[in-house]
Amino acid sequence: PQTKLPKVGTTIFTVMSQLAAEHGAVNLGQGFPDFSAPQRLIDETAKAMRDGLNQYAPMTGVAPLRQAIAQKALDCYGAQVDPDTEITVTSGGTEAIFNAIHAVVRAGEEVIVLDPAYDCYEPAIDLAGARAVHVPLDPQTFAVDWDRVRAAITPKTRMLMVNTPHNPSGAMLNADDMQALADVLRGTDIYLISDEVYEHIIYDGARHESALRYPELRERAFVISSFGKTYHCTGWKIGYAIAPPTMTAEFRKVHQYNTFTTYSPAQYGFAAMIRDEPEHHLELGAFYQSKRDRFREQLLTTRLKPLPVPGGYFQLVDYSAISDLPDHEFVRWLTIEKGVTAIPLSPFYETPPAGQRLVRLCFAKNDATLDAAIERLRAL
Ligand code: GLN
Repeated sequence: PQTKLPKVGTTIFTVMSQLAAEHGAVNLGQGFPDFSAPQRLIDETAKAMRDGLNQYAPMTGVAPLRQAIAQKALDCYGAQVDPDTEITVTSGGTEAIFNAIHAVVRAGEEVIVLDPAYDCYEPAIDLAGARAVHVPLDPQTFAVDWDRVRAAITPKTRMLMVNTPHNPSGAMLNADDMQALADVLRGTDIYLISDEVYEHIIYDGARHESALRYPELRERAFVISSFGKTYHCTGWKIGYAIAPPTMTAEFRKVHQYNTFTTYSPAQYGFAAMIRDEPEHHLELGAFYQSKRDRFREQLLTTRLKPLPVPGGYFQLVDYSAISDLPDHEFVRWLTIEKGVTAIPLSPFYETPPAGQRLVRLCFAKNDATLDAAIERLRAL
């Protein structure tokens, strides 16, 4: 019999992390920091456990955390968000994306995704019995061609998914993009997922264009974020979705029968962390900018060509001066023979651009880790 997800194997992130471990390679593949989460966050989460806060959280998320998220939406994006009817805490951004799709997309409908797209989008669409319609981003700049998006819309289109800052490219939507996005969606009943999990990892004074800033977008958007990226704890799997009340009501129907609730001690930990160190997320851009700049400077001493990194903690590099291998073969060779692990770009595409020779390196790492990688990359 036909399986439900015939195209899906083990995710490229797991495959490459396993290969890195097997060969003792420096792992710049899967996106996760190799430095500690803030001590206060760890202490407050441990304290919640010691204080006995170990049973089910409310289905929607613990109240102090939802209030902190609402305050942040107001402070950062000028958005009034009701913590009781518009915010749901989830087991990571991935659960939130799954819930949002399943809350509103019916079998036979279409969801527009922009390629390269993060790998959890399409399987969630497929499991809803819907179809992902792939619109390519510009192969050089990863900018959105809004005319192509508009042309992809059919009477079956139920949802459009955007991601800014973008994984894997780091590209960011700007204010003109947001206007174009609003123009494309105006007068339709298409929902928007705005995947903003890298919202605070932004550089060079750029502004993160959250869908929450735009009332016209906000009224049809599930805005999704993740604490794992902001607080260096990707293994805790805590994220959230912000959406208008009627959409949130549908979202919660899926959430409550998917995971029901999210690990409660960490929710109290984040609430305390945000209360006591409200500047943490505001300083995150500067923290990662120095890593980005140092890493890029070092890359210039190799034969890899770094592409611009407007946001996020991934660096794309062009390896065409070194090898003509397709990207999935290049990353295996790089791991096994050269001891550095990267992520190929082709798994992010329905149809990868012909001849593209790009791989993704994660620079959310201690200097020593990046130095070790660079030393090996210099030998290429
Ligand atoms: N978001 C992480 C990345 O892009 C991976 C998460 C995962 O392994 N599924 O590297």
